Amino acid sequence: MIQLSARVHRVPQSRLATFAIALPLYRVFDYAVDGADELKPGARYRVPFANGARTGILLEPVESSSLDPSRIKAVLEKLDDGPVIDAHMLELSRWLAEYYLQPLGEVLFQCLPGYLRGARAHQPTRVKRYFLVDPDRERIDALEKRSPRQFELCRALLQNPAGLTAAGLKQVNPNWHGVVRALIERQLVRWDWLQADTPELPRRTDRPTPSTEQAGILNELESRMEGFAVHLLDGITGSGKTEIYLRLIEQKLALGRQVIYLVPEIGLTNQLVERVGQRFGACFVTSHSGLTELQRYRAWDRFRRGEVNIMLGTRSSLFSQADRLGLIIIDEEHDHSYRQEDGVRYHARDVAIKRAQMLDIPILLGSATPSLESINNCARDTYYRYCLDQRPTRFAPPAMQLIDTGDSKLTFGISARIFATIDKHLERHGQVLLYLNRRGFAPVVMCHECAWQALCPQCDARLTLHQSVQSLQCHHCGYCSGVPRCCPQCGNDEVRHYGIGTEQLEHGLAARYPQFPVLRIDRDAAGSREALRSRLEQLQSGDPCILIGTQMIAKGHDYPAITLSVILDADQALFSASYRASERLAQTLFQVAGRAGRGDREGESLVQTRFPSHPLLQALMRDDYRGIAERLLQERRELGFPPFARVVMFRADALELDPALQKLEQIKTLLQVAERFTGISCIGPMPALMTRRIGRYRAQLCLLSADYQALRAVLHDAMPQIQELPSGSRVNWTIDVDAYDL
Ligand code: ADP
Ligand code: ZN
Ligand code: ZN
Repeated sequence: MIQLSARVHRVPQSRLATFAIALPLYRVFDYAVDGADELKPGARYRVPFANGARTGILLEPVESSSLDPSRIKAVLEKLDDGPVIDAHMLELSRWLAEYYLQPLGEVLFQCLPGYLRGARAHQPTRVKRYFLVDPDRERIDALEKRSPRQFELCRALLQNPAGLTAAGLKQVNPNWHGVVRALIERQLVRWDWLQADTPELPRRTDRPTPSTEQAGILNELESRMEGFAVHLLDGITGSGKTEIYLRLIEQKLALGRQVIYLVPEIGLTNQLVERVGQRFGACFVTSHSGLTELQRYRAWDRFRRGEVNIMLGTRSSLFSQADRLGLIIIDEEHDHSYRQEDGVRYHARDVAIKRAQMLDIPILLGSATPSLESINNCARDTYYRYCLDQRPTRFAPPAMQLIDTGDSKLTFGISARIFATIDKHLERHGQVLLYLNRRGFAPVVMCHECAWQALCPQCDARLTLHQSVQSLQCHHCGYCSGVPRCCPQCGNDEVRHYGIGTEQLEHGLAARYPQFPVLRIDRDAAGSREALRSRLEQLQSGDPCILIGTQMIAKGHDYPAITLSVILDADQALFSASYRASERLAQTLFQVAGRAGRGDREGESLVQTRFPSHPLLQALMRDDYRGIAERLLQERRELGFPPFARVVMFRADALELDPALQKLEQIKTLLQVAERFTGISCIGPMPALMTRRIGRYRAQLCLLSADYQALRAVLHDAMPQIQELPSGSRVNWTIDVDAYDL
């Protein structure tokens, strides 16, 4: 007894806790924290690390450490009073780290908005705005005698229907605090956060009445909006999927729930932001790479606090925290941009499904060209599938037509047949879309005397000519040089360029069609949001014009005046080494074709090719996406490729090839695949397809297996040792679970 009470009286000096630090290290760290502090998992601290300081996230208090007590350091500073990562997000992060075999510290930090990844204080500069609850003159006038100071403030608020901030109130009365408090108690005044980040758009009340098809699907979906389930909305382009999302969001908001709505690329979806704004007013935030760190942080914070109910954003918005999350929507679920390919490797769609399952809420995937993975999951009865086969507008998506270029002469990459069709559509006041997934002026620059080629000094890649800025650029590392006047190898005074990029196409078409605007949208031309906006306005105006672009224009937008869509470079993908190439090409072609004919004029879609008899192109002419997807799935099954197998890829890079290969050889030995299991193919180590990139040589080791449990078991046993392998500047290595490609 005496001993016990002695222990109770001892003031705790410090306590131990484990922390995750944003480093590619598969371990957590113990530090001592002031014993008087409440230890809140998910809060940030500054901790001593190596010879400096780092930001760490408190994971959990622990009773003891395996470290020698003398070696345990104390934290330097507490950065947050409460957790910045809530319990659910900690759990999801742990799952992500475990499933994708990524370091927990890196996973946790990438869940946070960039603004909070360092030591910046989590104190948003938010402003309260005060309003009159009810501008009732009589009640206000009644105050004049009884409480002149309250009367004075009310009068000022009456003159400012949009409300006043503290600064405004201070001008009326320097001691406004007490006065406002009294008015709030009397329920004459209320306050709200000043919502500066979301523009208030004029609300529209005229929602389209759902078509019979839409109504049927809405009915089914509505009955399944409680509890976890994955729903795939498989609807042709322009069939009104977005309209269904908006209806479901509306219902969730009415129940007081919040919604995360993910889209692949927001550049072209200004339209979508407007549509959501018109429907829901200012109760949503957006988050995408076009915003500053501070803006993204604000959006994240407002959603987290429940001030807004919709988070509309790109991939990483999935990690937005919310107490009342009721639905996750993933539009264009097949899109490759949901996969994060550097840093922490994960697939946002798959993590979203896990998140929905943890929260026991529904998740809705939508696409006109669903991924083979999702289609397969529908076939396995794990997803609900809903098909929309008609457009609510007048015309079905145009059937694609192959244009065989054969030996015909091309003018800046376009055949005469296609020019004739472009002429026809422009004459009839249609807008024309040309898809060419190659930016720059020309992809090849060479000397025809000695065959010298302009190559990137840092990558195994050619340099692309960008004529408007007179430079040669590497699209992989950003290397940039001037354009040589004569051949650097033999001195020949003529250096030629070959091939066509979007910049050249723009020049050529502008010269050929001086009477029509030619708009180019790619990363070079639409760099600034202003430039992009003005181009989009032109499209919105409905006047005839020509739109040229890379994959930025392939998806997501709805411009009813586009009547012709042309795919200029399907051929590249026909002979690709990637097993995903056919799926991606089919998706791109259906998406691009589907941009045409959305309004009240019928659309047309052309695919230019030198290989019109290629089986995939032939199939595209005969069949719809669903039929093609079934066939591709069958092929995958026969070849034993995903989704009928899982892929885990180890990658290594170094300043020379050998050390990278050696590292993977070590990993392979630790995996002991050959000794332990059959049914796991181990391919490599071998040099990566583009071996040298940004000055480093890259190699890969691929595990492929239909037996997921066996694959997991191999990894589970070997990972602790593999994780101990140092990853440093000499050789970096990473692991990629469910790698997108082989
Ligand atoms: P998706 O998301 O499938 O591409 P959208 O929801 O963008 O399709 O719809 C395509 C076009 O059809 C939009 O302009 C939209 O306003 C319109 N639309 C959708 N549903 C209806 C409806 N029930 N009645 C009339 N127009 C509709
Ligand atoms: Zn030469
Ligand atoms: Zn390069």
